[in-house]
Amino acid sequence: MRVVVDLSRCEGYAQCAFLAPEVFRMHGEEALMYDPNPDDAQHSLVLRAAAACPVQAILVDRLERRNAPAGASSP
Ligand code: SF4
Repeated sequence: MRVVVDLSRCEGYAQCAFLAPEVFRMHGEEALMYDPNPDDAQHSLVLRAAAACPVQAILVDRLERRNAPAGASSP
């Protein structure tokens, strides 16, 4: 699965870090660090974190078990 946090929206409420601490981590008071490609075992926790985010900054995109999407290529 893939996770993207829109850091321009994130207000550092840390709900996500509380709900899925293996994926989201606060770095200092407001800076969020996260794993953009967490293990599937984290899926339900990540969904909960996304639902709990007060500013809906967390986007979850399940692309697992598919290889690179059509059009993906490296330069
Ligand atoms: S819950 Fe949302 S606003 Fe809070 S730290 Fe996580 S992504 Fe940022």
